[in-house]
Amino acid sequence: MSPLLHVKGVETYYGNIRALGGVDVVVEPGEIVCMIGANGAGKSTLMMTICGSPQARTGSVIFDGQDITRMPTHEIARLRIAQSPEGRRIFPRMTVYENLQMGASLDNLKYFNEDIEKIFTLFPRLKERQSQRGGTLSGGEQQMLSIGRALMARPKLLLLDEPSLGLAPLIVKGIFAAIKKLNEEEGLTVFLVEQNAFAALKLSHRGYVMVNGQVTMSGGGRELLANPEVRAAYLEGG
Ligand code: ATP
Repeated sequence: MSPLLHVKGVETYYGNIRALGGVDVVVEPGEIVCMIGANGAGKSTLMMTICGSPQARTGSVIFDGQDITRMPTHEIARLRIAQSPEGRRIFPRMTVYENLQMGASLDNLKYFNEDIEKIFTLFPRLKERQSQRGGTLSGGEQQMLSIGRALMARPKLLLLDEPSLGLAPLIVKGIFAAIKKLNEEEGLTVFLVEQNAFAALKLSHRGYVMVNGQVTMSGGGRELLANPEVRAAYLEGG
């Protein structure tokens, strides 16, 4: 089986600053894979490079057998890569329902009611608050909305940038349980980047560790959780 996502030797720059220095990542269909790393390691840059903005200067990003390295972001989205970006980026003045509508693609309108019901079943809180403006939701609810909006695109690959950021542990648990459910029940493939190494590795089949724009370690989620170096750098006292 060929990987759903293959990031090969990717280097990404901001002007003269190299944020990614030759990153390799493989995500197989049906997997949950995470990239953990400290603040500023380059995790968001990797997510954005997969989505084509900024583009990789060298290396390539292959999705579903297609080279998307130089493809414009809107075309990448049409291939059904959906992202819940850093900071969630929901539309604060629109209602929950309208935010979800924004995530639907014209190609999938016939599934609209079915999809929205599925998201309301996954996140009942969003159903209760469907007429409320996005900006008035709690952080956890906004994260649910951001994921729900991405799901409206019927993604083959769901990208999550720090879904746990700023949320209480119990809320993180609920959101990660929903991601697990989507993976187990629908076979959804997920790639997430996280500073919360414990929660991310527990959820993921496999993980990578990023330091200064480079992958320094990779392995099974449980294997990395037990790794003394990972424990010392990301788990103990954190
Ligand atoms: P965080 O968890 O804080 O978002 P991160 O691991 O996602 O961290 P990135 O945001 O990808 O890290 O940043 C990687 C490096 O690139 C950092 O040194 C950062 O300062 C730099 N960088 C990020 N965005 C820009 C930009 N727009 N212009 C210049 N440098 C940038």
